[in-house]
Amino acid sequence: MKKNYDVIIAGGGLAGLVAAIELSQNFNVLIIDPDTYPRHKMCGEYLSMEVSLYLKSLGIDLNQLSDIHIDKFKFTRGSRSIKAATLPLGGIGVSRFSLDHCLYKEAMKRADFLHDRVTDVHFSNLEFQVITSTDELIAKQVIIATGKRSLLDKKLKRPFIEKKSPWLAIKMHYQFKMPNDLVELHAFDGGYAGLSKLENGHVNLCYLVNYSSFKKYKDIDSFNEKVLTKNKSLNKFLKDAVPLWEKPITISQISFEQKEPTEKSLIMIGDTAGLIHPLCGNGMAMAIHSAKIASHYITQYLNNYITRDQMLIEYSKEWRKTFSSRLRHGRWLQRILLHKKITIIAYWLLERLPFLLPIIIKKTHGKQIQP
Ligand SMILES: Cc1cc2nc3c(=O)[nH]c(=O)nc-3n(C[C@H](O)[C@H](O)[C@H](O)COP(=O)(O)OP(=O)(O)OC[C@H]3O[C@@H](n4cnc5c(N)ncnc54)[C@H](O)[C@@H]3O)c2cc1C
Repeated sequence: MKKNYDVIIAGGGLAGLVAAIELSQNFNVLIIDPDTYPRHKMCGEYLSMEVSLYLKSLGIDLNQLSDIHIDKFKFTRGSRSIKAATLPLGGIGVSRFSLDHCLYKEAMKRADFLHDRVTDVHFSNLEFQVITSTDELIAKQVIIATGKRSLLDKKLKRPFIEKKSPWLAIKMHYQFKMPNDLVELHAFDGGYAGLSKLENGHVNLCYLVNYSSFKKYKDIDSFNEKVLTKNKSLNKFLKDAVPLWEKPITISQISFEQKEPTEKSLIMIGDTAGLIHPLCGNGMAMAIHSAKIASHYITQYLNNYITRDQMLIEYSKEWRKTFSSRLRHGRWLQRILLHKKITIIAYWLLERLPFLLPIIIKKTHGKQIQP
């Protein structure tokens, strides 16, 4: 007989794990993910404090995970640098290695975990059939939390997956001395890099670059040497920093195309519903927040307070109300940062009116999420 669940969650990243912690308090929940924990993951690892109270209500105390409190932001291009600005809510420097593992342990207190990959999902007769590489399962509701891009998106025929994306990302941890309270954003030709400290004192260098700039060089080392070092701060970093891994983590085809928060009666959360440009440093908080919103409406539906259609409509409405303007401002900021002439003008303006920077950052972040 096929196993039955109230909720099956495809993907055990931040969004999937948070939804599992919430929903397993009242329902029978299964998470499916091919990963094992702990594991490193592509990310700048700056987590906005807007999620701190909410995570605490779920049993996750960020202050216990990391004492790297970041409330200053510095932006550089070439040899120019804008004086550190204060971040409105601030954030915490925490590795995905520790954060996801902590959420995983909390989720495992009540939810089931299947170490597998979801390959397809069908909806008929008011229930979902979830197909994995080795199993078939049944659920009253399915959440898709498979991140930026997955083969499942192709199977579900999501339009964004057909469009090629020129973005690739590279991440590496280093030993390097830098202030605990600072996150740095360094622009270079074709991309930008974030630098910030983590709970174990390591420094994360994570950058996003356009493939057309990257492909002119034979590998990551020569790209770093020829392009990143043209930025004075990155030059100093790469000269002095000691790499802590044998090789960096890389991913390609990072898509910032618009996506839908619900499709085929499925609820999408985290990057599966929409990815904000990484320079905003808000993707993790949005993933966590979207899991909270989805859990609320799924709970109402499973308790028969609303119909399935109402659940899907209300979730979509609230998702758009909460995140659409952040995504729009993120797109707008990324365009400015990567446009050579416009960045020079933006720089000129910000050097003279530095109070504008926190106002701009605020547009891509939310307020403290109330539990
Ligand atoms: C270069 C870069 C830098 C970033 N820096 C920051 C930052 O500093 N701060 C910030 O807040 N955000 C940052 N982000 C964004 C942030 O990393 C994401 O928004 C966040 O990871 C989203 O979490 P998620 O749970 O949606 O997806 P993920 O964390 O990617 O989790 C998806 C999970 O789904 C699983 N999966 C995939 N396919 C399947 C399948 N078919 N079946 C089952 N499981 C599957 C994967 O194994 C994975 O565990 C950055 C993003 C990039 C690209």
